Amino acid sequence: QSKLNGRNRYHLFTPHLMEEQSRKVHIRQRLSRAVELNKFTLAYQPIYDVCENRIRGAEALLRWHDEELGQVAPSEFVPVAEETGQIVNIGKWVLKQALKQVSQWQEKLDHTFTISINISPIQLHAGFSNDLSQMLKKYGVSAANIALELTESCNVLNNQDLRYWLEDIAKLGVKLYLDDFGTGYSSLSVLHNLPFHVVKLDKSFTGTDSESNRTIIAATLALAKALNMAVIAEGVETENQYTSLQSQGYRYLQGYYLSRPLRQECFSALLSPGAYPLPAEVSEKCEL
Ligand code: C2E
Ligand code: MG
Ligand code: MG
Ligand code: MG
Repeated sequence: QSKLNGRNRYHLFTPHLMEEQSRKVHIRQRLSRAVELNKFTLAYQPIYDVCENRIRGAEALLRWHDEELGQVAPSEFVPVAEETGQIVNIGKWVLKQALKQVSQWQEKLDHTFTISINISPIQLHAGFSNDLSQMLKKYGVSAANIALELTESCNVLNNQDLRYWLEDIAKLGVKLYLDDFGTGYSSLSVLHNLPFHVVKLDKSFTGTDSESNRTIIAATLALAKALNMAVIAEGVETENQYTSLQSQGYRYLQGYYLSRPLRQECFSALLSPGAYPLPAEVSEKCEL
């Protein structure tokens, strides 16, 4: 035991970890000016409706290109931004940008088409729903066309105030999606206590075909149905996964098999009738 500890401690001084630390510091520094320098863009990944054979929505995904660091993935910079609080400012940009975009699409969208926006629980506060409502008015966006995705990745979702804040958001008519379902700390109590409309089954369960994953896939759908919620399966990468999820009763699917996250112009083109399915070459060329 003591040997193991010793080894772990020794680990802290390896060059690899030092590199990782300095990259983190670098990301934090570069991130601080990224909003004002306009270094972010949003990609849109279609969410497909198997029953109606059409796109029913899209998830807005943040992209950051930095001159020195190159393209940095959200999985790398979002946790840093959450740690430093920079996510508050970045999240405001995301929300504003997405709403501006939806206002341009508004006349092409029926009321069942939903653009979902990822937010960090850190961004929420008592005045959030009011701010959101003002922004919807300002950009002329219908609340029915908007959803917010929250990840159950930290205990923040157990915050007592959160429930009231989320209820205020739901009252506006904005939908709430519980992201990465099954990977968090307290999936079941979150479902029970918070007013989510949709559960997004995490891609770790759809990605590999195993007995236990199949059980979780089936159980999640049953649970969601019983709670009157819809389920979106994330990370659908192959035809096999697509067919299997469809035959198990999954209606809403998202993943590379259906479409990559697309630059905004490419996604816009999909909103015209008959533009779907998107040929694989186009999907790859348009990836952002
Ligand atoms: P997420 O919200 O669960 O988003 C889905 C992620 O899965 C995206 O990664 C997407 O590109 C990726 N993905 C989509 N289809 C497939 C597939 O078939 N296979 C695989 N392996 N991956 C697929 P991305 O864009 O790198 O974002 C990672 C995470 O960063 C997001 O996970 C979300 O938690 C966070 N994020 C992204 N944009 C924002 C944002 O604007 N605000 C906040 N707070 N977080 C964001
Ligand atoms: Mg998401
Ligand atoms: Mg997530
Ligand atoms: Mg997810």
